[in-house]
Amino acid sequence: MSLEMSTLVTYAKTKGFVYQGSEIYGGLANSWDYGPLGAQLKENIKNLWIKEFVQKRKDMVLLDASIMMNPNVWVASGHVGSFSDPLMECKECHTRHRADKLVEEALERDPNFPVPANWAWDKTPLEDLNSYNTAGHLACPNCGAKNWGEVKRFNLMLSTSQWVTEDGTSLVYLRPETAQGIFVNFSNIARSSRKKIPFGVAQCGKAFRNEITPKNFIFRTREFEQIEIEYFCKPGTDAETFETWLVDEGKFFTDVLGLKSDKVRFIEIPAEGLPHYSKRAGDFEYLFPFGWGEISTLANRTDYDLGAHMKHSGADLSYFDPYDNTKYLPYVIEPSIGLSRLTLAALCDSYDEIPGEEWTSKVVMRFAPQVAPIKVGIFPLVKKFSESANELYGILSKEFMCEYDEAGTIWKRYQRADEIGIPFSICIEPENYDQGQVTVRDRDTGEQEIVVIVELIEWLKTKGC
Ligand SMILES: [Zn+2]
Repeated sequence: MSLEMSTLVTYAKTKGFVYQGSEIYGGLANSWDYGPLGAQLKENIKNLWIKEFVQKRKDMVLLDASIMMNPNVWVASGHVGSFSDPLMECKECHTRHRADKLVEEALERDPNFPVPANWAWDKTPLEDLNSYNTAGHLACPNCGAKNWGEVKRFNLMLSTSQWVTEDGTSLVYLRPETAQGIFVNFSNIARSSRKKIPFGVAQCGKAFRNEITPKNFIFRTREFEQIEIEYFCKPGTDAETFETWLVDEGKFFTDVLGLKSDKVRFIEIPAEGLPHYSKRAGDFEYLFPFGWGEISTLANRTDYDLGAHMKHSGADLSYFDPYDNTKYLPYVIEPSIGLSRLTLAALCDSYDEIPGEEWTSKVVMRFAPQVAPIKVGIFPLVKKFSESANELYGILSKEFMCEYDEAGTIWKRYQRADEIGIPFSICIEPENYDQGQVTVRDRDTGEQEIVVIVELIEWLKTKGC
């Protein structure tokens, strides 16, 4: 059964995954708040990423840089000068649209759709986009008119001001990506962590982009969360390093997070679509209900960023390689993931609607145990067994997020557990409990298994919790 986004949005709100931001004030356009289950889900994905790419590896470290940075960072990175989208307004209905996105959407519907002269996605020259509009190729997706205002560049950085003196403020940007925090700290990290190239730096955090057309729930929002890695390597080893990350990242999506492999793909960005400094890049995409959408970009950024910061700051960011006594600017492979988008992918991937019999759940969230916001449901068969159930809660909650529920029939509680994707539910009955064992129900098979309490934590861990 195919899932509609509107169904998922409603479901996510009802169960406490994601709410509309500032809802009691009528909301704020395009802002979303992660509820108790959504916050935990996002945290689990982030922690699995840290475990996989930092904890398990000797060549990776973690960083947490500031959201607000010296504005010169964004001059050096090119964001002040050229981080912009081609924006145009419909003269009939006054809605605003990205010229490049409308062309891309038209191409998806019809690969033979004409493109503007010198077509280079969001970098297409404005004069070519304007003459393309004059020729009447694009219709307004809102009202169908072909009457466009002039295409203009619109910078995507959000800014605020901070006090510098008693009578003045200065402009600061909210970072549009976490990556630059890693580049400007490169020398600090290399020195203090004693890592030798090749090594990488991972960072999780909020980033902000003033998107013209945010849409699709938490897929494209102005405030979002990234999990990014900058992997520094010796020039000449970059092509091979890219290949390795391509495999490792793909495995992370399918093997570690458990996303369905036929819903994840890697699309190479053609050479003419690459930024001038990039040698190779591509997008990992997930098949969302609205179509394929980017969840990650893997890019070979060469030595562009370190070189730009060296030039603008005057700091020497070159690296002395003790293995062969050479000095060079490292190349960078960047696996950059949108954590908010990946959380949406996990929600879509898990959602399973089953035509109901009386006692079965209508919706089951089939999260992989390692991703599931809550791992174990603990349900006393009847209320008078609550003391034993609370005792077990005390034991298991040291290791796992647990849910305690004593309201309603046991089947009703199993159903509620399925609806929020709890992989294992435990029913407490005194005959069993007093003998040191419990019955564990598997969410996906419905099968029940007797497990000895002293082995329960280990048992749950081997199941992926
Ligand atoms: Zn219009």
